[in-house]
Amino acid sequence: MTDKKKSGAKIEPLRPKRPCPICATPSTRAFFPFCSRRCADIDLNRWLKGAYAIPVVEEDDVPGEDEPPA
Ligand SMILES: [Zn+2]
Repeated sequence: MTDKKKSGAKIEPLRPKRPCPICATPSTRAFFPFCSRRCADIDLNRWLKGAYAIPVVEEDDVPGEDEPPA
């Protein structure tokens, strides 16, 4: 009677584990490719900031009258 090792262990995902792009901790399936919801949120925030990027207005250093406060 051959008693095979029953797959009582966790089923590993086929894809190799990748480190979380935020903190480099091995990612979890639940929050792939991140390790946690926190990191997913961080990335989402970055993405949103990028999407709603504030146009950078480069102000030239206008030579003006620098009046000191009286
Ligand atoms: Zn992470």
